[in-house]
This record gives sequence, structure tokens and C-alpha cells, in this order.
Amino acid sequence: MKIKTLPSQLFPSSLPWLLPIVLVLLFVAVLIWLPWQAQRMETNERQEQLIADTLWVEQALQFQLNRHQESLANIAEDFASGKVSNDVLSARLRLYATNNHEIADLALWDAQDKMVASNIEIHPNSPPDSFTEALNANANFTQRLHKPSCVKSQQQAASLVTLYCRFPLFRDKSYLASVTVSYRLQTLLDETVPWWFAQENEISLYDQDEKLLAKRAAGGPGKNVYTHNRALEFPQLSLNLHTNSTKAEPKLLSNLLVVSVVLLSLGLVWSLIALWRDINRRLQAEGALRKEAAFRAAMENSLITGLRARDMEGRLTYVNPSFCKMLGFPAEELVGKLPPMPYWAPEEITEYENRFAQILTGTVQPEGFETIYQRANGERFPVLIYESPLVDDNGKQTGWMSSILDVSELKRAQELSRQQEEKLHQNARLATMGEMASMLAHELNQPLAAISSYATGALNILKQEQQIDQQSLSEALEKTTQQAQRAAQVIRSVHQFVKKREASRALFPISTLLQSVMPLIALQAQSAHIHVQYQIDPDLPEVLGDQVLIEQVILNLTRNAIEAMHNVAYAKRQMQIHAHVIADPHLPHSQLLLIQIIDQGHGVTAEVAEQLFSPFFSTKAAGMGMGLNICRTAIEFHGGSLKYRANPAGGTVFEFTLPCNANKDESNMEQA
Ligand code: ADP
Repeated sequence: MKIKTLPSQLFPSSLPWLLPIVLVLLFVAVLIWLPWQAQRMETNERQEQLIADTLWVEQALQFQLNRHQESLANIAEDFASGKVSNDVLSARLRLYATNNHEIADLALWDAQDKMVASNIEIHPNSPPDSFTEALNANANFTQRLHKPSCVKSQQQAASLVTLYCRFPLFRDKSYLASVTVSYRLQTLLDETVPWWFAQENEISLYDQDEKLLAKRAAGGPGKNVYTHNRALEFPQLSLNLHTNSTKAEPKLLSNLLVVSVVLLSLGLVWSLIALWRDINRRLQAEGALRKEAAFRAAMENSLITGLRARDMEGRLTYVNPSFCKMLGFPAEELVGKLPPMPYWAPEEITEYENRFAQILTGTVQPEGFETIYQRANGERFPVLIYESPLVDDNGKQTGWMSSILDVSELKRAQELSRQQEEKLHQNARLATMGEMASMLAHELNQPLAAISSYATGALNILKQEQQIDQQSLSEALEKTTQQAQRAAQVIRSVHQFVKKREASRALFPISTLLQSVMPLIALQAQSAHIHVQYQIDPDLPEVLGDQVLIEQVILNLTRNAIEAMHNVAYAKRQMQIHAHVIADPHLPHSQLLLIQIIDQGHGVTAEVAEQLFSPFFSTKAAGMGMGLNICRTAIEFHGGSLKYRANPAGGTVFEFTLPCNANKDESNMEQA
């Protein structure tokens, strides 16, 4: 299976992270700068607003004072014209003072500075102190300058400070009259400054010496954040109009916009971190998945078992390399194919279809089933198939996964084993025939000799010319019959004996077998004066096979070894029997049992070697020549091998191997 990997060049290093990080930093910087800028703008705006409002208030005050000056000048004009009586003038002054609360006192003076009218009843010769004070301060000066002038009272308490103004009336440079007015500065502020302005600002009037003259703070004291000073000009006097806003500096965080912006930024940063973590997690999972997929792909590619996946319609959705190799078709020719498949043997199509119909109904044989497939070259071969359902992550079946074993080798091995077994039986039969022949020859010798002599006796009787001795003749014939029956009995018993010899397989410990044959070997060896030595590994494994056959093999080989040393010097009559466990040179991690029978006899000549394992080859006078042939067949039947080689010390080494039982299990498992 090919796994598409994401090109790592797509994200070469830390660069992909740099851009979003820079952008986020910029965004955060702008977010911080924006409220700061907004605050600054608001501050400027408030300051500008205050300046504009202060200007407006100053102009309102100025307008009010100018209006008073004009109105009072008119009254002075009326007086100078002499057409209006003093009483009328006083009434007008009273009315004027009543309508304008900031005016405390009003008085009209003639050219000699004698008061001619006033808003209050004042004795002309004793005007109130305030008037005198004003007159003293202003009169001469005003006359001289011919200009209106103002002066503030000496009152200490701010709310009581009064401003005196004198407006002289000149005609053709001759002084005609003057009007004096005293303003209550506090009332001037209270009356003239609009309430909305007073609500948001503390308004104060200061003289040139920074002395507070009047103050209005309806909305509380000023916060000294937004302030403005303007000169309030009176004739010959300049006061300072000071405005101090009650507003504090705009708070950065109380601003809803700022709060929402900060919250949004936090949210953004949080979501970025979450995204980053999620991406990291995904990358990790992707890496693990890639590793897993690579591992799976390697595993599937290394399998000798064929794998294929089919969907519910029977379409091939996946095949592994082993499956393709087994069939000789490339994966591209198989994947996506619907039945009939290119590897179906035409003669088996009905069986395949029946089988698939069965699978669709959910009938799966857990032990698998055997069938025939056809390779691309047309060759048929047997396969063993195991099916299991493919289920997706929602638990829904999406198809079938099958593992396919090419069992042609196994079949071949089974066939070989069967043939070997047959051969063994054939050889065994031959051997049995040989044994039977020799036994029969030996056993039948006596009865046949007896029959022969009884028959000769009977003939002799018949040849006699005198009367035949019937008695003797019948005795001879009876004995002949008896001997013939005995011969038949011999044949039957020999046959019975031979019939029992059938190979049987069972697990048996090889050490026990060796122990059991040792006394027999000792008996063989003793009579030939041969010394036997054993080298046997402790903890030898078990062997699966026919114990009697293996015993016969060992006894046969030891008998041959003993017979080979028949004519050697007594000192050399040494026979060694070794049993070891060795590593299997053909199968890694597998072991073999090696049994060696070593003699110092006459050895095997090249001539003998050519026919050593041939049936009925023997160099011995009484030998049948079947021993080695039967031994080799028996060992091969057990999956081992029998070999011989020259002994460096003189003589021959016959050795055979047998697979250990642990190996058998493994090989059985492999085959399964
Ligand atoms: P038999 O023992 O009846 O002759 P075998 O098949 O056992 O039949 O042996 C065949 C021949 O192999 C023997 O006749 C002998 O010449 C040779 N042979 C067998 N074993 C040995 C041995 N250990 N050393 C030398 N020659 C041997």
C-alpha cells in the first residue's frame, strides 16, 4: 500500500509560523495603539471643546457688560438732554437694576459729580461707602481719560467682590455726566454662564494678582485636567476667566470599545493557541499514522501470505504484493476488478460464484477453505483461503478481507512424504520378503528335508517287489503330510510376524530409546570383543516417529560397525556412539538431533561406496544387503538424513539426523 506523505518542504522550518506570529503581534500592537490614540483624541476634543465653550462664555459675559454700558449711556444721554426728570431717571435705574440681578447699585451723576439719580434712595451728600470708594478711585482718572473705567472692591470674601464701573458722558470734550454701576461678580457668573456649562465646568474669575473674585461650580470642583484661561476685559481692568472641567481624563479600560477590543484580542490569542495545539496534535497523530502505515506496508509487503480486500459487490479494493506475485498479475490489473476475476480457473467458476454467494449471506468458514486458482501463465495451483469481514469505524461492514495461502508447496511436500512412505513400505515389504525368504528357507529346511526323506522311503517301499508294507507306507505318507502341515504353519507364523511391522508415529524421548538399546548393543559387542563408548548430551529432546524403526536403524548401524571391526586388532576394536543436539544448517533457529556410530573397522572402499545404499548389496557372505537401504528410508521418512564418512582414526562414521520435536511444532504451525 502506498502512503502519500505530506512534503515536508511545505513547512520548511519555523518560517510558516513567523508570518502569523508577526501578523498577530502587529494586530495586538494596533489594538493597543488604537485605544491610546482614541483616548488622546478624546482628550484633545475635550480640551478644544472647553476652549470653545470658555470663549463662548467670555463673549456672553462681554456682551452682557457691553449691553449694560450702552443702556446706561442712553440713560446718561437722557439726563444730559435735560428732558427727563430725575425721578424718571431714578425709576429707570431701579427698573434696570431689578431686571439685571448682577447689578447691585446704579447711580447717575452730573458734571459736578453730584448724584442725581440712583436705583436706591441715597442721600446725595452721603452716598454709600462703596460709591465714594469708587468715585475716589475713578472719578478724576476717568474724567481725565474721558473713558469708562472699572475697579474692583476691596472685599475679602470672594462671593462678595463687587466691580465698580463708571461710564462718563462727554460732548465736545466737555464732561456732562456719568453713570456708575456696581456689579456683583458672583451673580454675574451665576446669571450669565449657562447652566449646562456650569454643570460641566468650574468657572472662576481672578484678578491680576491671581486672587479669586468669584467662582461657580454647579457640577462640583474642577478636576484640573482640562483648564483654560481667558482675559475678561473691563474698561481699564482686565480680569482672568478661568474654566476648569469637572471631567477627568478619559479612562482607558472603562471604554466599552477598549474592553471589547481587549476581549477580542484575548479571544484571538486564545484561539490561535488552541489552533496551534490542535495543529500540533494533528501533526503528531499524522506522524504516528504515517509510521503505523509504513509499518503496516512493510509488514504486508514482507508477508508470504496473499492478502486481498473486496467490497460488498465483490470488487477488489486492495491486493498485497504477495498476492500479485502468487498469481503473476500486477496490482493495477486486479484492483477495481469485478467478478469474474482473471485468476479464476474457468472450470471452477460455478464453485467460486457459489462460495461468494455464501459469503454474502454471512457464512464464513473460520477454518478456511481450499480451492484452485489460475496463474497468469495458465498454471493451476491449490490455495487455502481465510475470509473475515471488513468493518468500518461506524461498525458497518464494507467488504471482506481474505488471506490466501499458496499450498502447492505444501501439497508437493505431502505428496513427497506419501511417496516416501510408500517407498518405505515397499522397501519394508522387500526387506520383509528377504527376511521371510531366509526365515522360510531356514524353517522350511527341516520339514522339506523330512518330506523328502519320507517321500524317498515311500518310493522305496513301492519299489519293493515283495508285498507292499501298507503299514509302513501309510506311516511315511502321514509323516509327509505332517511335515507339509508344519511347513504351512511356519509360513503362516512368519507371515504373521511380518504383518505386525507397521510404522506408527508417537512422541518418545530419544534418551530413553538409547537406554533401551544399550544392552542389546552390549550383547552384540561383547561376543566380538568390542569396547563401546557413549557420548550422550543430557536433556536430549523428544522425537516424533516410530520408535521401533529408529531402534532398528541404530541396531543395524551398530551391527555393521561391529562386523566391520571383525578382523582388526583387539586394541582397535573401539566403537563410539554419540548423540548431540546441533543447529539446523538449513533452518535458522531450528535444531537437529545428531546420532553418530563411529567404528575403526575396514572402512568403505570406493567400489563399495557406489552401491552402499542399494538394496540387496552386501559384501558379507550371509548378508542380505537391505540394512542400510532400509535405514536410510526410515530416517528420511522421519525428515532426517543418513550419511557416512571416513573416520580419520581409521574406519567409518555413520551418522543420521532427526528433527527435534520443537522444530516439528514450528513447521506444523507454518504449514497451518
Ligand atoms: P548387510 O549388512 O546385510 O551386508 P547392509 O546394507 O547393512 O547389508 O550393508 C551393505 C554393505 O555395506 C555391507 O555388506 C558392507 O560391505 C558395507 N558396510 C556397512 N556398514 C559398514 C561399516 N560400518 N564399515 C564398512 N563397511 C560397511
